[in-house]
Amino acid sequence: MSAPNKSYDPVEVEALKPEQIERMRDEALAAFAAADSLDALHEAKVAHTGPTSPLALANREIGALPPHAKADAGKRVGQARGAVNKGLAARQAELEAERDARVLVEEAVDVTLPYDRVPAGARHPLTTMMERVADVFVSMGYEIAEGPEVEAEWFNFDALNFGPDHPARQMQDTFFVQTASNSGSAAGKGADSDGESGVVLRTHTSPVQARAMLDREPPVYVVCPGRVFRTDELDATHTPVFHQIELLAVDEGLTMADLKGTLDHMVQSLFGADMKTRLRPNYFPFTEPSAEMDMLCYVCKGESVGNPDRSCRTCSSEGWIELGGCGMVNPRVLTACGVDPEKYSGFAFGFGIERMLMFRHNVEDMRDMVEGDVRFTRPFGMEI
Ligand SMILES: [Zn+2]
Repeated sequence: MSAPNKSYDPVEVEALKPEQIERMRDEALAAFAAADSLDALHEAKVAHTGPTSPLALANREIGALPPHAKADAGKRVGQARGAVNKGLAARQAELEAERDARVLVEEAVDVTLPYDRVPAGARHPLTTMMERVADVFVSMGYEIAEGPEVEAEWFNFDALNFGPDHPARQMQDTFFVQTASNSGSAAGKGADSDGESGVVLRTHTSPVQARAMLDREPPVYVVCPGRVFRTDELDATHTPVFHQIELLAVDEGLTMADLKGTLDHMVQSLFGADMKTRLRPNYFPFTEPSAEMDMLCYVCKGESVGNPDRSCRTCSSEGWIELGGCGMVNPRVLTACGVDPEKYSGFAFGFGIERMLMFRHNVEDMRDMVEGDVRFTRPFGMEI
């Protein structure tokens, strides 16, 4: 602050002249008006109302004035500062209102916009069904084995005891990728004769059994899920491409009782604790003895049999549902796959996944499973 200015020296009070005070006020108001953002306004505020602003410095000069001039100067400076503060507050309010309006526009969410996200996918019910069945066996200690879908004829037929003239080998049942180089059968020539063997799209998952036995030393416990091919026309109950799951156990002392217990455990795991299976004699080249396996109808639990009041569509009131084939592995198959049938025995069974999906979920037309229409798969949910 200046020293007391008893003589009212015009030099020292230059800053307090009315026109100077007006100029300071007008400059401040002009700076506020020119500020186009809150940041710019803050800078103008510091420059025109801060402790080193012209008006603040002029205010400090008041103390140097003679007493008779102090009131006048104080009034002028006070009015100017009041006007500046008022102008600042007004501009501040304006800029804040502009900012709020801009934020409302920029950050607005239009809840009426169309939903354009691609729906999350899910796996096909055949895949989840197959894995669910495989999980039952994995939990029992089995391992999952897989093999090629384009398979040597030897693995698909010969190793599994299909004779050279077995009807399943005929062109009308099997997709041949390459026929055998000689017109005769490759039967009995062993795995080393693949070059002379034909090549087929595998007609069942059983060749994976043969591969599993050749790859491993007994005991062998494998479950083989996979896609198989037959020359069927696509209709409500047939498809040329379908899925099977097959089980193979090879160990010392395995019997039909082990097979039966394993089957019962499987249907109980999938359909409930009160389920059971039954075996009916049958014939398959790769098992001896062989059996057709049925499971108790999971809807009527057999109560529809001979009971017209409680007829059952699922099992046609027969009480049982045919599931697939099974049996003890034929010793000739064990021998072909390098396993000593005198020491080891084995059991195997397999069934179609499409068929299980059909009766488990009341699917009436197999074509729905292969046509890829999400209206079919969506009701199965987003299970992964
Ligand atoms: Zn039934």
